[in-house]
Amino acid sequence: MSTYHAPLTDIRFALHDVLQVETLFASLGFEDANRETLDAVLDECARLCETVLAPLNRVGDEQGVRFDKATGAVTTPDGFKDAYDQFVEGGWTGMSAPAEYGGMNMPHGVGICLEEMIDAANLAWSNFPLLSHGAVNALRHHGADWQKEVFLKPLIAGTWTGTMCLTEPQCGTDLGLLKTRAEPAGDDSYSITGTKIFITAGEHDLTDNIIHLVLARLPDAPEGSRGISLFIVPKVQVARDGSIGERNAVRCGAVEHKMGIHGSATCVINFDGAQGYLIGQPHKGLMAMFTMMNTARLGVGVQGLGLATRAYENALRYARERLQSRALSGPKLPSKAADPILVQPDVRRMLLTCKALTEGGRLLAYHAGSLVDSAELAADADARKQADDLLGFLTPIVKGCLTEWGNECTYHALQCFGGHGYIAEHGMEQLARDARITTLYEGTTGIQALDLMGRKTLQLQGAGLRVFLGMVEAFCVEHAGNAALAEFVEPLQAKAGEWQALTRSIAERAAADPEEIGAAAYDYLFFSGYVALAYWWARSVAVADASARPETFKAGKRETARFYFSRILPRTKTHAAAIASGPASLLGIADEALDS
Ligand SMILES: Cc1cc2nc3c(=O)[nH]c(=O)nc-3n(C[C@H](O)[C@H](O)[C@H](O)COP(=O)(O)OP(=O)(O)OC[C@H]3O[C@@H](n4cnc5c(N)ncnc54)[C@H](O)[C@@H]3O)c2cc1C
Repeated sequence: MSTYHAPLTDIRFALHDVLQVETLFASLGFEDANRETLDAVLDECARLCETVLAPLNRVGDEQGVRFDKATGAVTTPDGFKDAYDQFVEGGWTGMSAPAEYGGMNMPHGVGICLEEMIDAANLAWSNFPLLSHGAVNALRHHGADWQKEVFLKPLIAGTWTGTMCLTEPQCGTDLGLLKTRAEPAGDDSYSITGTKIFITAGEHDLTDNIIHLVLARLPDAPEGSRGISLFIVPKVQVARDGSIGERNAVRCGAVEHKMGIHGSATCVINFDGAQGYLIGQPHKGLMAMFTMMNTARLGVGVQGLGLATRAYENALRYARERLQSRALSGPKLPSKAADPILVQPDVRRMLLTCKALTEGGRLLAYHAGSLVDSAELAADADARKQADDLLGFLTPIVKGCLTEWGNECTYHALQCFGGHGYIAEHGMEQLARDARITTLYEGTTGIQALDLMGRKTLQLQGAGLRVFLGMVEAFCVEHAGNAALAEFVEPLQAKAGEWQALTRSIAERAAADPEEIGAAAYDYLFFSGYVALAYWWARSVAVADASARPETFKAGKRETARFYFSRILPRTKTHAAAIASGPASLLGIADEALDS
């Protein structure tokens, strides 16, 4: 079985040293988010993850969820409910929710660190509370007062969970194709009919009620994505005064058998004239759903990060213990039958890739998490807009890159175990299987790339990119004369310039041929992700050098940054070359020639 120990030293370095969140949170009015409290919250969450959730990871994989066809009930794996009850009792479900609805009012920038640990400990389990965060956000921003009053408190307390019901058999990426109908019931409620598939936590035995947020079409809805509305459809009916009614006409029709996250309930949910309430304006459901999806996208990006950290921890331990072969330069442990595989450059390549992508990725994700707070609470409107632009720009990078890197790291970590990684005993193959879903749900990597390239960069004229480049420029100016940092600052500055030029050239070409956008998007996503990580690595070295941390820690940061700049950042060259080749290399081949 794989182990999990929360990497608290690096989590604290990211939060306190690099992002200096205490100052930020105080400026945003989070009076209780001081260092002492934050550290206590991190410690307690780590304890819960290591002792309660992590031991259930294997159980969930082996047992999976069980479905009773006769009743439509779903039973979670042994121990999941008990763990959920402890989670609720500890107030974790409402950690970053507003106090007026019973939450703990901790910043989102802290919530995201807790999510990393929870995901690493048990990804399948983490999906049950995950979607409630999105439901809470959608209701807070778009719900009527009575809806907030009735639904927010139990969702935040964790006594109910939320879902996000978008996907239908004929409608995945293209939500304009959805068919679920909503008919006015004559009493301000609606009758919802249709089938949703792949619904995470759509049915389970953890709570008494489940609040489905469902996209559906009103009778007068325009065609396509402009005709979609959002509805609250509880599993057990809830009246406007909060009183609980009868079982609603919502039923789980099946659970999917999946490659990974077996302990997560992925359900077909049938709505058969179920009572629902409209959220926000008719036909404006996608906008409200996007509030929910953005929260969930950051959350799924962090799932990739969490799995990568756990994979790395286990691969590193194994590489220290496993004795095979000798170092090329001669024995390192002559008294033993062989040297540990850690001495082999190729094993170090895999381990350092994991270390570089996870520690850099952690900063990328935590920074985005803190922008959620700044975008909502910064004192002046300009600062809020800047934070919002940057958050919008970084969200597809966090989701797209961190999940793909999560797959890369679980793959490398499994490889470090050799054949022992492929068998179930060490738990590495589970991490690789579980990681695979993260690049698919909440919008595939291709869709994140299109969002970054099309909407967040071209349509918004690079507003978010400009803010990020401003941060890079400020850092490079600040450290311009610092000889110890020159090996990082100079290439970073050069890459930032290339990023700007690349964006401009794609924009010019896209004006003449829209296919340029689709052809460039994936490579642009990764070019952006790698340059963003270069910034966080350069900054990590600068901050570590100036800190009172132990020399081994400082050396660890500097040497990993060297590895990153010399062996990973050059991937940007391939991405830039692919972008330069344009759509012809993809669309030039006729469809009929693809199988000739
Ligand atoms: C385990 C699991 C849990 C899930 N949980 C939920 C949930 O809770 N709620 C929910 O509503 N849904 C959920 N989903 C559905 C998930 O979000 C969709 O599967 C995903 O959005 C992709 O849709 P699709 O599978 O229909 O693929 P399709 O839309 O058919 O796409 C197939 C391929 O074509 C590509 N593609 C499609 N259109 C474009 C385009 N315009 N440009 C470039 N490439 C394109 C895609 O990137 C993908 O590679 C879940 C799925 C799984 C497997």
